[in-house]
Amino acid sequence: MANTTPQTSSTTGTGPGEQFDAIIIGAGLTGLYQLYKLRQLGLSVRVYEAGSGVGGTWYWNRYPGARFDSESYSYGYSFSEELLQEWDWKEHFSGQPENERYLNYVADKFDLRRDIQFNARVASALYDERANRWQLQTEDGHRAQAQFLITAVGVLSAPQMPNVAGLDTYTGEWCHTGLWPKTPLNLAGKRVGVIGTGASGVQLITEIAKEVGHLTVFQRTPNYCAPLHNKPIDEETQKKIKASYPEIFKKCRETFAGMIHHFDPRSVFEVSAEEREAFYEQIWSEPGFRKWLGNFRDVMSSKEANDTFAEFVRNKIRARVKDPAVANKLVPTNHPFGSKRVPLESGYYEVYNQDNVVLVDLKETPITRITPKGLKTSTTEYEFDVLIFATGFDAVTGAFNRINIRGVGGQGLKDKWADGPRTYLGIQSVGFPNLFTLVGPHNGATFCNIPRCSEQNVEWVTDCIRYMREHNHGRIEAKLDAEGAWTAHVADTIADSLLLQADSWFMGANTPGKKRTFLMYAGGTPAYRAKCDEVAAKGYEGFALQ
Ligand code: NAP
Repeated sequence: MANTTPQTSSTTGTGPGEQFDAIIIGAGLTGLYQLYKLRQLGLSVRVYEAGSGVGGTWYWNRYPGARFDSESYSYGYSFSEELLQEWDWKEHFSGQPENERYLNYVADKFDLRRDIQFNARVASALYDERANRWQLQTEDGHRAQAQFLITAVGVLSAPQMPNVAGLDTYTGEWCHTGLWPKTPLNLAGKRVGVIGTGASGVQLITEIAKEVGHLTVFQRTPNYCAPLHNKPIDEETQKKIKASYPEIFKKCRETFAGMIHHFDPRSVFEVSAEEREAFYEQIWSEPGFRKWLGNFRDVMSSKEANDTFAEFVRNKIRARVKDPAVANKLVPTNHPFGSKRVPLESGYYEVYNQDNVVLVDLKETPITRITPKGLKTSTTEYEFDVLIFATGFDAVTGAFNRINIRGVGGQGLKDKWADGPRTYLGIQSVGFPNLFTLVGPHNGATFCNIPRCSEQNVEWVTDCIRYMREHNHGRIEAKLDAEGAWTAHVADTIADSLLLQADSWFMGANTPGKKRTFLMYAGGTPAYRAKCDEVAAKGYEGFALQ
């Protein structure tokens, strides 16, 4: 087994720095579990984490209203029965403070912190071909080396600001939902502007509308938001959940997106109009993503089928917003239902019935600049005490692009992926040996209830490293033909899907200048898992091992 004690030389300046078997970037849900597993394997491991605490998404996105859209009990780690039994989720869809507490609890329980360096944002990762080692440097100049580099940088972790002039002139408070300050902003009674109405904006707006003095929401594209139906978990239900974790996780392994929801095997058109309406009412009244991932099987593949549910949702929106002109602005028409991530809400549409809330349609009146006191649209000037950007993320590849990652021959990963990612299993890319991209582009874990699929990723990588050690292999790199075939297969998984029809972050279309291409994997969780298992069973077919 490996020496688990890191060898230290100079950690700053020009020396190679501390030596590890593996370096993990990110101490979110995925990075924490990878650390736990590699430690079990006897590797020396260091995690570099940009934040001052663990949690990743649940560390950074501490905006008011942030909470799971997955059932809490389907979201926690499944690897420790003891952890499952001792942790009580308080709500069916748990809020950010509890989620962050949970991940801290896990870090403490498994004594993970001693191998995590916090406040350490990785600036570069360079592959040294001769030594077959990755050389890392953090933004503050700390250096370290490892044989394996494992990224756990998250899917939505590179916050994105709109490209509008004048932010540097703005004198009020402002922040992005994905970089929410630890000391909460005081919004009570204030004039607040929010730009963006995706899943983050919808949660935030609903929550802060309860306390702000005046709220102006700037919406570019309306979404199909659906009721979350959250509630506390009572004692009886808690017991039932704890007794049924094996079935819950089994179900998650069998569903398309690693959730507890299965698509209905029927077509929209196999049932009568009355039955369809009754089914829609039924799924609408149920919690979570049932309306999306438990809908008729063809809702996500046939526009005609999709239209029936899209119209159902539009009518639900119209019924909740008193002013028909405002309702009209909130009704989505330019993309199919579910072709963008469906925001789940708890009273969102009713916010627009409040006297102190104004909705501005940016398609009618675009923002022209940020001003010292607020912002200007093509027709109006607005003044705010606080301006909030709920404008999303440079998704999936954004966090990779913000690190200077260079592989064989000094090739940049950002350059290689400029026309869209090229990967094998979403876990490796040719020219970047010993680099594993957990929950990376083209990976089955991206289009999934992430913890369920990131556990699979982590376990697969751990098994792969174990295999390499047992067979005396020091280097693993995807083969070109395997990468080409996987990249083509990823495109095939979306060929018949309505996902192609929206300008979403799934397609990279929310980031100006980014190549429009599908960044995830839409073949479903079971198919992805089966392929990864098959590759491993065949001695890591498609990878060159040396
Ligand atoms: P998002 O879905 O990308 O939404 C960003 C919003 O900002 C959109 O309304 C977008 O309008 C708008 N926007 C972006 N740039 C703009 C500009 N220059 N001018 C005006 N408006 C602009 O981002 P998000 O809401 O942060 O959500 C991202 C993802 O995070 C979600 O899809 C979800 O997967 C995840 N999330 C999960 C949870 C949860 O599980 N509970 C909660 C929040 C977020 P357009 O639509 O026109 O581009």
